[in-house]
Amino acid sequence: MASAILRVALANKGRAALSLLGKTYSYGNLLASAQRQAQRIGARERGKDACVVVLAESGPEYLIATWATWLSGMVAVPLSPSHPSKELEYFVKDCGAKAILHCPSLEEKARGLSSATGVGTDLVECADVGDVEVAAEALDLPGEEDGALLVYTSGTTGKPKGALHTHGSLEYQMRSMSEAWEWQRSDKILHCLPLHHIHGMVNALHCAHFNAAHVEFLGSSFSPRRVWDALAEDESISVFMGVPTMYAYLLSHLDRLKGSEGGGGASDLLYLKYVEAAKRLRLAVSGSSACPVPVMQKWAGISGEVLLERYGMSETGMILSNPLESGRRIVGTVGRPLPYVDVEVTEEGELLVRSKCMMKGYYNKPKETEAAFVQVGGEDYFKTGDSVAFDEASGVYTIKGRISADIIKHKGYKVSALDIENVLLSHSCVKECAVVGVGHELFGEAIVAVVVKNEEVGGLESLGDLQALCKDHLADYQTPQRVEFRDEIPRNAMGKVNKRELAKSISS
Ligand code: ATP
Ligand code: MG
Repeated sequence: MASAILRVALANKGRAALSLLGKTYSYGNLLASAQRQAQRIGARERGKDACVVVLAESGPEYLIATWATWLSGMVAVPLSPSHPSKELEYFVKDCGAKAILHCPSLEEKARGLSSATGVGTDLVECADVGDVEVAAEALDLPGEEDGALLVYTSGTTGKPKGALHTHGSLEYQMRSMSEAWEWQRSDKILHCLPLHHIHGMVNALHCAHFNAAHVEFLGSSFSPRRVWDALAEDESISVFMGVPTMYAYLLSHLDRLKGSEGGGGASDLLYLKYVEAAKRLRLAVSGSSACPVPVMQKWAGISGEVLLERYGMSETGMILSNPLESGRRIVGTVGRPLPYVDVEVTEEGELLVRSKCMMKGYYNKPKETEAAFVQVGGEDYFKTGDSVAFDEASGVYTIKGRISADIIKHKGYKVSALDIENVLLSHSCVKECAVVGVGHELFGEAIVAVVVKNEEVGGLESLGDLQALCKDHLADYQTPQRVEFRDEIPRNAMGKVNKRELAKSISS
């Protein structure tokens, strides 16, 4: 049971675990490097659930640092290299880190962090070993109850919280996704998600390695052209995972190719190559926030398959998923509970979760942990804070949004911001939008649409135009009373919008 990935690595030493910039690293290579690194960390002297910060770009050092931390019996805390130093200090202090492991390119950042926090640093090195021999006896594997990962939430609604996962809860997360999405050792995933949140860390990376599959890192700074090129060049890539904005960018890149004047033959050919690459994927997953229905429809139009949308969170792992069989996926819904997961819905519509994949708790925050659970029928359920609708006939769930930010209380109705966003985005003149509620003396909350216009299309100038867009698809009480046109909508690393901040920025 213990530290499943390390066992997989041991049993698959010769197999490719990771590729980056044309170089491939085997499981044995990464494991041997991790073992050396672990000896430098010094094993198991620092108390239960002691944390080690991993500050590394997408590359072998990230994995070596994580595995070395596990071999040392400690908890890996991956942080974002792109975060400003002040924010990184918050995380290092919050988890009481015992060490900061960093890749060569982040030496300076790690040093700065070290002098601000007093936590020592250690450079992670990838041992240049070919056919490595890792002795099983030499591996001191942690147990199921030992802490494995501290997964910080995306910080969409406030300061990120550290969700502590044990080797046991991590393994159940990986098993759950492996069973539902039929991960194979022959799979290869193109990975371009940030590695400091659950999506990129557990779903796209560790789950692949749990299955002895191959991960191709493309780096975390997202470029649609590089993604399309990588997908087109390597026919063995079978899996892709992204947040909705990535799919939106991938699609608009295709649109531009198709519409490019004077490009003629060359860009048409490239377009066809990219479409073929999209069709070749066995599995393309979307998550982290609601995938707008128009994005789903457009992807289906191109690839012939509806994206597999799933829903989950840092604290619980993945909760709900559309089925693997693409014909049975329902656009706009997030499907049914994954294996090892039970859900309940409160009278108010909040989703509650009980799961073997559940975090042990928020790190060093017993009060917050207690407040996050509620008892139902004698069992502890985690309160997701998300509102859902369950459809009896199809047995699937739809996410209506965060109760704290997406459910707008307007004239006594509970209006889902996501429903309105889907309608607005279905119009070609809307490039991006976010709908929020702002206090209103008569309505409770007024519905405000923040819109980024699609300048190439035009035709959207005023509130009246926007209301006309909504009229055909929404009830009167779902129609925005105000519109604010902006040049962009601020999003975090996972492409999510902090709606409460956005609402505050709207002039009253
Ligand atoms: P914080 O908890 O710090 O405010 P966060 O909730 O965004 O940030 P995560 O744990 O990374 O941090 O994200 C979980 C949340 O993401 C869920 O509670 C849900 O609101 C949203 N989410 C994830 N997948 C989907 C989806 N498919 N559709 C709609 N919302 C989703
Ligand atoms: Mg959250």
